[in-house]
Amino acid sequence: MLKLIPILLAILYALAMYRFSAWRTGRELDTRSTELADARLKALTDRMAQALDLPRIRVNIYEIEPVNGLAAPDGRIFLTRGFYDRYRAGEVTAEELASVIAHELGHVALGHTRRRMIDFSGQNALRTALAMILSRFLPGIGIYIANALTTLLAARVSRKDEYEADAYAAALLTKAGIGTAHQKSLFAKLEDLAGSRGGVVPAWLMSHPATADRIRAIETLESRWQPVTAD
Ligand SMILES: [Zn+2]
Repeated sequence: MLKLIPILLAILYALAMYRFSAWRTGRELDTRSTELADARLKALTDRMAQALDLPRIRVNIYEIEPVNGLAAPDGRIFLTRGFYDRYRAGEVTAEELASVIAHELGHVALGHTRRRMIDFSGQNALRTALAMILSRFLPGIGIYIANALTTLLAARVSRKDEYEADAYAAALLTKAGIGTAHQKSLFAKLEDLAGSRGGVVPAWLMSHPATADRIRAIETLESRWQPVTAD
C-alpha cells in the first residue's frame, strides 16, 4: 500500500494541474475573443443551424495569429484572427471557413472536447504513473518508454476523433446545401499555404491526420451518399 502512495500523489497532482490549465484556457478565451460578425459567414452558419434545428450558431474570433479553429470544452466554437484574416484577404472562401466551423461543431456534438480534456488529464496521470513504475525496472529509459506509450495512445484517440469530426462536417455541409467540395479545397489550400510560407504548417493542419487521407475519407462518404442526393 505504501508503495502506491507516490503513484496516487502523481495522479492527484496531474488532476490538479489539469483543472488549473482548463480554468486558464477558459479565461484566456474569454478575455481575448469577440463574437464573429460577418454577414456572408452568418448566412452560412444560419443554414447549418437550420439543418441542426438550432436557433443559431455562435462563432467567436480568438485574437491570435496562427491559422486555427477550435472547440472549447464548454462547447464554444472559435476561429483565430489569423484564419479570419486569410478569408478577408480572399485566400480562403466563406464556404471553406464554414467547413472549419462544421468540423469544430462535430467535435462538440460528438463529445470529443469533453473527452479530450479527460483524456488529457488521464494521459498526464498515466504518463507519470507509468514513468514511476517503469523507472524502477528500467532506470534511465523507463521514462522514455512511458512517454512513447502515452503519446502513441493519445495519437490513436485524436486521429479517430478527427475523422469523425470530418464525417460530421461532411454530413452537415451536405444537409445544409453547402456541399463537401469546400471542405476538400480548404485542405489543399492549407497545404499550399504551408508550402509557400517556407514549410510553416498551419496549426489546424498540424493537429490533424494527413490531408490526402482526409480527402479520401470524405470521398468515400460522398460515393456512399450519391444515390441519396441524386434522387
Ligand atoms: Zn479537429
